[in-house]
Amino acid sequence: MISLKNSSEIKKMSEACKISAQALKVAKDFIKPGVSTKEIDEVIRKFIISTGAKPNFLGLYGFPGSACISVNNTVIHGIPSKEIILKDGDIVSIDTGAMINGFNGDNAYTFAVGEISDEAKQLLRVTEECLYRAIEQAKVGNRMGDIAYACQSHAESYGYGVVKKYVGHGIGRKLHEDPEVPNFGTPGRGVRLAAGMTLAIEPMINIKGEEVKTLSDGWTVVTASGSLSAHFEHTILITEDGPKILTKA
Ligand code: MG
Repeated sequence: MISLKNSSEIKKMSEACKISAQALKVAKDFIKPGVSTKEIDEVIRKFIISTGAKPNFLGLYGFPGSACISVNNTVIHGIPSKEIILKDGDIVSIDTGAMINGFNGDNAYTFAVGEISDEAKQLLRVTEECLYRAIEQAKVGNRMGDIAYACQSHAESYGYGVVKKYVGHGIGRKLHEDPEVPNFGTPGRGVRLAAGMTLAIEPMINIKGEEVKTLSDGWTVVTASGSLSAHFEHTILITEDGPKILTKA
């Protein structure tokens, strides 16, 4: 069931989204070669708790971190670890979420560590463009397929692989609500979009191939080809006047 949020619910949810976005900002300032993903996770956890919110990923389905931190060929759900040390030239996707007032926020960004290759720079740019092109389509009267196609067509115009196994989602009182928000689809098809819908739109794009596999830890999702992968996400609200990004710091 898709829940439409009223204005008082949106107000509460906006706070959760703002904290989620600030957590990414805090993480960004901490990223440098030599830092472990566990240390980044600690900084995020402490920040979120300092605001009175709760890191909503921690313990969800048993996830051990406060953030998902995914380096290079890891697509999503990277477990923060002391053993994973960032180095110059890496890309690192950080996915943070906070819950406060009974509502959730969720967002992700892929950062460059030091100086990265032109190939990696293009992947980051295009994946972020996919996110914004998808958001542009999140308007009353459109359908989910319009969001999905905007993402897919842009990524595929560069020969990139759009991950299909994992998708975005509705968000609100629960981190994962209906409807699913795929990054691939057909314009004019799928769920009709309405004002009051709150969606986490999150392109996951691989340089080579759409196939992914999960490592033996049961969480870490990597590209099957071994190529780099990027992930950008915003929580947005559909209004009568168009999409509004809620995860702004
Ligand atoms: Mg999400």
